[in-house]
Amino acid sequence: MKLICIGRNYADHAKELGNKVPSEPLFFLKPDSAILPHRHPFYIPEWTQEVHYEVELLVRITRNGKSVALEFAHRYYEEVSLGIDFTARDVQSAAKSEGHPWEKAKAFDGSAVVSREWIAKDHWAEGWEHVPFELKKNGTVVQSATAESMLFHVDQLIAHVSKYMTLKMGDILFTGTPSGVGAVADGDVLEGTLDGARMFRVQVHG
Ligand code: ZN
Repeated sequence: MKLICIGRNYADHAKELGNKVPSEPLFFLKPDSAILPHRHPFYIPEWTQEVHYEVELLVRITRNGKSVALEFAHRYYEEVSLGIDFTARDVQSAAKSEGHPWEKAKAFDGSAVVSREWIAKDHWAEGWEHVPFELKKNGTVVQSATAESMLFHVDQLIAHVSKYMTLKMGDILFTGTPSGVGAVADGDVLEGTLDGARMFRVQVHG
């Protein structure tokens, strides 16, 4: 399986990093080896001085699809969850300035937190897009949003990405992060909540 990650999908986050708001979804991959095993701490790799947390809504692909039409995209996922796209920001900035790929900064071991909990997308009568999600660092809320603020909603992401690569059952889509990203340090505790329910808790070690 693969992790498909969307970049700059919230205008406020694109701006905080000095990036332009994209005219089409921007995506990159993480391999399955990037997934942080459940209950494992996150260790800051020795080759970076600046790892950022990015909390993101996740959707799991439930059927194989190629060039999925927008009106059918909702059939390709049933559950939503929450995770972190850990990013070695210093390494990413260096790669960006050289015009190089981002994999070193994005696809390293442990860089993908995937909650063990998944919730049916039709669980909420008001629609899952309206449900708030948050990231707390050491008990303080640092990121908070709903899917309504996405520049490209999940159906659009599925239609777009599947034009270029086949989506397979079990793939996970990281849908981009809202503003408030920041660095982690030894001893930090990161806790993600969806509609107030805790989805993950990650201890950081330097
Ligand atoms: Zn991200």
